[in-house]
Amino acid sequence: MDALLHSYGTGQLNSTSGDLATLFYEAVILISILRPSSSHSRVPRSSWHMFLDDLSWLCDTQSGGKTVTSVGAEQISHAVRFWISANGRVKPKSLNYLEWILSELQKLACDPKLVAGDVEVQILDAAIRSSHERVGDYLRKLKIHVEKVANQGACVEEDVELLDDLHAILEKRGDFRDLCKSAYCLRYRPSYRSLKQKITQNSVPESWAYIRHYIGRLASWPGASKRVVEMAKTSPHLFEGYEVAFVGQNLKSPSWVPVQTEEFQNAMDNVRHSLHERILDRGSMVTGLGAASAASIAVFLEKRRHHKFIPTVHAEISMLEHFYLNNLTFAKGDRYVGCSKPSCYCCEMYMQFHPAQIRARPCHGNAWSQWSPPVAIKEGPDSHMRHSLAILRRMLERLHHDIRTHILSGLSPRQRGLDSTTGFS
Ligand SMILES: [Zn+2]
Repeated sequence: MDALLHSYGTGQLNSTSGDLATLFYEAVILISILRPSSSHSRVPRSSWHMFLDDLSWLCDTQSGGKTVTSVGAEQISHAVRFWISANGRVKPKSLNYLEWILSELQKLACDPKLVAGDVEVQILDAAIRSSHERVGDYLRKLKIHVEKVANQGACVEEDVELLDDLHAILEKRGDFRDLCKSAYCLRYRPSYRSLKQKITQNSVPESWAYIRHYIGRLASWPGASKRVVEMAKTSPHLFEGYEVAFVGQNLKSPSWVPVQTEEFQNAMDNVRHSLHERILDRGSMVTGLGAASAASIAVFLEKRRHHKFIPTVHAEISMLEHFYLNNLTFAKGDRYVGCSKPSCYCCEMYMQFHPAQIRARPCHGNAWSQWSPPVAIKEGPDSHMRHSLAILRRMLERLHHDIRTHILSGLSPRQRGLDSTTGFS
């Protein structure tokens, strides 16, 4: 048995051997490269879950994960209090925007003279203004993949029809609202329905999957605007006397990891260095992985060897801990935390092992090497976060199990999945 497999497969590495932070990050870095297929949940979301996800999405205005947002609903004595958290700290702009959307929904809920369609357009216009760069980015990427597919030729009849529809959408690049609404309407076209089936076949060009992803993203703003307005019409009482607050305001918050300390950076540099050296220097230990996998791990680590390591506490984990630490009551008795994107591999696992038993948005299976727990991984004065260290130990065991299973399977690293389950695709 090769050495890497031996390390991960025999219990030589476990949650009590060595420094927990080092072992944890080594495992997270490896899992983010190997990307094993996880048995992530596919539990359908209720209209309330989608409402919280939609609010989160509307407040998530930038590409690249910087503004990933979570919204949770607390039942207070007389009303619902909507909490917002983000990857890192909540920006005032996101808080103000959430307040504005809810105020529009409240007006609609209280005033029978207001027309739902008008409010929906207002919310959609504001969302597109806030996310203008993001819409432009998705449009640009969609265009690239449509051109790729069109240039490959040899399309069947339904592809020709779909390409015509896609070109018609691209024509609307001068009017982002019209563009997004056209992407939303595309779901009802027969040609688009066939796309869903098409991309389950391995032989089709990868660009089709990207096209579906970017159409889904563009369509998500009209979809979210429509659904939040529907909630105001069907459940007006939810908006009576509502309140808005952000995680970090007044109540106990998760303990933020000291990401910028020299000690932490040095430790993370050592983790990456030692993993890289072991893979490069001891060829026999990677035989279980296969040469291609070993090479891709080495390249990944080499590229990032001198990058600053900036771990981020993901929005839904901050929200989960906020509800747990403050013993808050969930609105509608529904222990769900909304998020603007599907949860990642580590967030899903963290939630699964958490005593609060809170549900989050279904997982896309991707793992991020700079995922951060909501607490520094060392024994310290944060006695109210002790449960978090216990969860990390359980996560480490599961990570080692998943790494071992993946190595034994002889599979290459999996392609990173597209995280677009924006309620459309
Ligand atoms: Zn996550």
